[in-house]
Amino acid sequence: MNYELDHTDIRDAVVKLCQDFPGEYWRRCDREQAYPTEFVAALTDAGYLGALIPEEHGGLSLPISAATAILEEIHRAGCNAAACHAQMYTMGTVLRHGSDEQKAAYLPGVADGSLRLQAFGVTEPTSGTDTTSLRTTARLEGDHYVVNGQKIWTSRAEHSDLLLLLARTTPRDQVKKKTDGLSVFLVDMREVVNKSLTIRPIRTMMNHATTELFFDDMKIPASSLVGEEGKGFRYILSGMNAERILIASECIGDAKWFIEKASSYSSERKIFDRPIGQNQGVQFPIAKAYSEMRAAELMLREATRLYEKGENPGEEANLAKLLAADASWAAAEACVQTFGGFGFAEEYDIERKFREARLYQVAPISTNLILSYIAEHVLKMPRSY
Ligand SMILES: Cc1cc2nc3c(=O)[nH]c(=O)nc-3n(C[C@H](O)[C@H](O)[C@H](O)COP(=O)(O)OP(=O)(O)OC[C@H]3O[C@@H](n4cnc5c(N)ncnc54)[C@H](O)[C@@H]3O)c2cc1C
Repeated sequence: MNYELDHTDIRDAVVKLCQDFPGEYWRRCDREQAYPTEFVAALTDAGYLGALIPEEHGGLSLPISAATAILEEIHRAGCNAAACHAQMYTMGTVLRHGSDEQKAAYLPGVADGSLRLQAFGVTEPTSGTDTTSLRTTARLEGDHYVVNGQKIWTSRAEHSDLLLLLARTTPRDQVKKKTDGLSVFLVDMREVVNKSLTIRPIRTMMNHATTELFFDDMKIPASSLVGEEGKGFRYILSGMNAERILIASECIGDAKWFIEKASSYSSERKIFDRPIGQNQGVQFPIAKAYSEMRAAELMLREATRLYEKGENPGEEANLAKLLAADASWAAAEACVQTFGGFGFAEEYDIERKFREARLYQVAPISTNLILSYIAEHVLKMPRSY
């Protein structure tokens, strides 16, 4: 175990903060599909959502391993960081490719909570996983761009001031490579919402505040462009390792929550005059999920270590996300089975966490697409799409 990556003080402080948000809080939000505003405010006030923002812009200047510690502990405590994690995983694109003016204009506000950067608009209804086929366009007209099109699954848009948006600035038939001609914009939604930008919520099987966005001649200043025009796909890809690492840490936290619940309940619950955990049929799935979680955790630590050395750990970050999502799902399954009927009762929180954990097999990247990345880029097998 690499103790430098442990951030024990941060973990302890996050655990303490999460104690103010017990199961009852999350059950109420879930029942009402309400955004956990108070929880996000508490994280913001403690500075955690500005963890990756440099000190010169009001943030904590912490390394990504600190962010993984924060997200893991949130999930391990039974809370859900999906309400706010985008503020961490969009940061790489803004820090690496944003202009000094953009950073000075937005980051201090994001760090102190007066501005929210929680929305990330890439996926579209017709193109889905095939990002370079997206149809949203941004056309430069004098000192502004005009955006038209639609996004789907843009989570937290109703609870964000800023949107990191990927749109096509050069038609696909006019670029050499389909990955060219896409651009990233940092859109101030406050100027356009309910005018040229319509946000429509989508109800989902778990409480996720996700939405559809419709852009109808949405005018944004030309200064909203992040980096160079046409290079946006590369910018988004360059942030993917961080995203994989951060999401994997949430999955590790979920897996630990399920395993801790299942192992303690199985030791207490007596059926046929003995603890159900004495039966190997009950023990083994929990022990197996634990071993999968530990393996995933080691891969996550390796990905984090390489990332912090400035390397580009595509293989390790993708493997960490894959293994961690699988481990959390195995742990979720084992936990529901261990609790029997009580696993389905709302008051135990297991059915809620079960629904929340399922997402990570599909989003932000599906398991299939990670496997195809490993096959093509690591094992050098033929590209499948
Ligand atoms: C709750 C939720 C929140 C989300 N939040 C955001 C967000 O904030 N911002 C954002 O931009 N997106 C977001 N997404 C979108 C998410 O990233 C996509 O759902 C995901 O990338 C899959 O795209 P799709 O749903 O269009 O599926 P499709 O692309 O239609 O794919 C359907 C299935 O086919 C598989 N598939 C497709 N092509 C291949 C292939 N070549 N080989 C093997 N399998 C393949 C996929 O893996 C998937 O299982 C969110 C999604 C959900 C459900």
